[in-house]
Order: sequence, then structure tokens, then C-alpha cells
Amino acid sequence: MRRKMAAGNWKMNGTAAALAELGALAEMLPDDAPDVVICPPAPLLYRACEIARPHGIGIGAQDCHAEDKGAFTGDISAPMIADTGARYVIVGHSERRDAHEETNSDVRAKARAAWAAGLTAILCIGESLEDREAANTLDIIAGQLSGSLPDDSTATNIVIAYEPIWAIGTGKVPTLEQIEEVHDFIRAKLISRFGDTIGDAIPLLYGGSVKPDNAATIFRAKNVDGALVGGASLKAADFAPIVAAL
Ligand code: 13P
Repeated sequence: MRRKMAAGNWKMNGTAAALAELGALAEMLPDDAPDVVICPPAPLLYRACEIARPHGIGIGAQDCHAEDKGAFTGDISAPMIADTGARYVIVGHSERRDAHEETNSDVRAKARAAWAAGLTAILCIGESLEDREAANTLDIIAGQLSGSLPDDSTATNIVIAYEPIWAIGTGKVPTLEQIEEVHDFIRAKLISRFGDTIGDAIPLLYGGSVKPDNAATIFRAKNVDGALVGGASLKAADFAPIVAAL
């Protein structure tokens, strides 16, 4: 059985007051909840870890630098993230690939830095609307996988999140067939690259406008092992039913 995971990416939202949502979420989670991870803004990581730890909720950062330390003003390294108690880091989110011009090789280096610090990397891939309309989706996904997913990936050091850019924050969700097509394709690529055991065990999340009212449908898709949720992860009352649907 593959690990199931519901991960929330708070993006640049929330100050300390928002951490009350973690306690509220813990109260709403069923005993047999899948892996639940919240990725708050970096200044909240320490406190988020303190609050989440007793409840078994994992905490992650939203990005890391590929280097451990140095003259990189404003950046945060993977060892610094691990030092807060966080166990995960998102790498290659489309908002970073786009606004910060991160390339596949940048993302690969970040995933490697995450591993070296003992973190699990949640690696994001996904096509733009232009790519999809030009029927280039699978080519883009293949290129992102081969370019940004490091060798030596395992079922415990990597989680892949397929997030079509046109579905992020838009309320537009791909059809179940579209999600399955891409997730099946990713699974096949993972198996051919890493072999049956590892390729079949790496969790694949779907992300992009996942909400309490569509989560159960999305989770029916083959090869969808959970979700990476943006807006609907900010409030426990929205995120808890998504976790429950898994
Ligand atoms: P939304 O759930 O707000 O569409 O965001 C998805 C996302 O980008 C998560 O990383």
C-alpha cells in the first residue's frame, strides 16, 4: 500500500495568529488519518513544529536554497529548515519556477540539498495552459521529471506533486481522465527509471483547486495518493474534510 498524504501549502499567508488553525486541525483529524503536512511561511516554522509535533502533523517549508550556507541574502537553507524541526520542503513549485526563474536543474539541486539535511522533498511539476492547449502536457511532464527529479529517489525521500499551473488558484480542475492520464504517465516513468519497487511506492499528489467538495472525486483517480492544497489548507474547517476524503 502506498503512503497517502494531504499536504497544505500556505504560500505567503499567515502570521502567528494563523497557527491556531493547526490546533484546530489536530482536533478534527480522525485517528487513522493519512500523513498530514502543513507548509507555513518560514518565520512560522519553529512555532508550527512545536504545536504540530504532539499531534503527528508534519511541518514543511515552501522552498530551500541548494547551498547549506553562504552569501545568499534572504534565502533559507535545508539544514536551517531541518533545525526548526520541519521534516519536509516543497521544491520546484510553479510559483518559484515562474517568479524566481528556477530551472529543472535548480530544483534538482534543491531536492538533493533537502535530502542531505534529512528532509523529504515535495517536488512539484505541472504544465501551463499554453502547454496543455498545444497538447504538450506529457512532454513537459517528462522533461520536468527527467530534469528535476534526482537519481536515488526513494519512497521516503521524495513526494511528487502534479500541479497543472492553470488549475492553481483558479477553481478550474482537470477532469478525472486528465488527472489519471498524467498520474499514470508519471507512475510509468518512475517505474521505468527506478524499478518496480521504488517506482510504485513514491507517492503522487494532485494539486490545483482541491476543495472539500471535489476532493473525494479527485481521490478516486488511479495513482492519486493525496493532494497538495493551497487556499483550502488555510482553514482547518476546509482542510480537515479534504484529509477525511483521502
Ligand atoms: P490552490 O489549492 O489554491 O489552487 O493551490 C494549489 C497549490 O499551488 C498548492 O501548492
